[in-house]
Amino acid sequence: MTSASRSYIGRFAPSPTGPLHLGSLLTALGSWLLARHHGGKWLIRIEDLDPPREAAGAADAQLRTLAAFGLVSDLPVIRQSQRSEHYRERLEYLLAKGAAFFCRCSRSELASHGGIHHHCFPAREQRPAAIRLHVPDEEVIWEDQLQGALRQNVAAEVGDFVLKRADGYWAYQFAVVVDDADQGVTDIVRGMDLLDSTPRQILLHRALGLSPPRYLHLPLLLDDHGHKFSKSSGAPPLDPDEPLTALRSAWRLLGQEPSALHTADSVDQTLHCAMTHFQIQRLPRTSRHIG
Ligand code: GLU
Repeated sequence: MTSASRSYIGRFAPSPTGPLHLGSLLTALGSWLLARHHGGKWLIRIEDLDPPREAAGAADAQLRTLAAFGLVSDLPVIRQSQRSEHYRERLEYLLAKGAAFFCRCSRSELASHGGIHHHCFPAREQRPAAIRLHVPDEEVIWEDQLQGALRQNVAAEVGDFVLKRADGYWAYQFAVVVDDADQGVTDIVRGMDLLDSTPRQILLHRALGLSPPRYLHLPLLLDDHGHKFSKSSGAPPLDPDEPLTALRSAWRLLGQEPSALHTADSVDQTLHCAMTHFQIQRLPRTSRHIG
């Protein structure tokens, strides 16, 4: 089955590290609009893989905020913290076919090779093992729906990468691919900060015997210093009691015609107008400053 013959399934996959802000809304609304534009489904997945980085109650607060903005998952929300069994099964498949391997290399050993893993150092002690993917030495070439043709030699630039960490946690790269495959996601729309993860994820889809989804990377919202607008750069949380102002800002930042939403005075009407007037060709390719 080619990706073009599948019906569209998109998703928004926040990590619950804090409240959502305008940059998050840009991605959420962008992925929602593209899913609706293609007559597809839109899913929310909570990426709570890394408990030390999570803020208590953040996942539920994110879901409440999204709902206040009219952005509700078309299927039950899944949480990565409850999916270990699925990750384990796929990992066993990769280990059994020799595509993944146990690795006891330490950070300092790898530092002597620029942090890039190409082969294991002889293990001098019994330390806990990570599990890595064997990365073929070849270019991954793909077409981003907004950024155009891209390529990366993952072996040269990243090396064999981690699927399961030595401390037992699942790596983002692996979990996200298993989840996207299990949820039948056909189109990944997310921020440019994840562009360089894409070739790794394409390799993983292939190693798992799956055809990769399509990708579209939206430009990031930047703060005054040119950094990604984020909680750490002082981005204020979205206010669930004031959804219209932020929805209009996100719409404008997605390059869309501001006047299309002028007559809408509720969240439902705003999303309805947005859906009707959305034009893919207006999506900006490059990052913008918040002001
Ligand atoms: N959980 C990731 C984040 O919040 C997004 C992962 C993805 O969209 O692939 O940055």
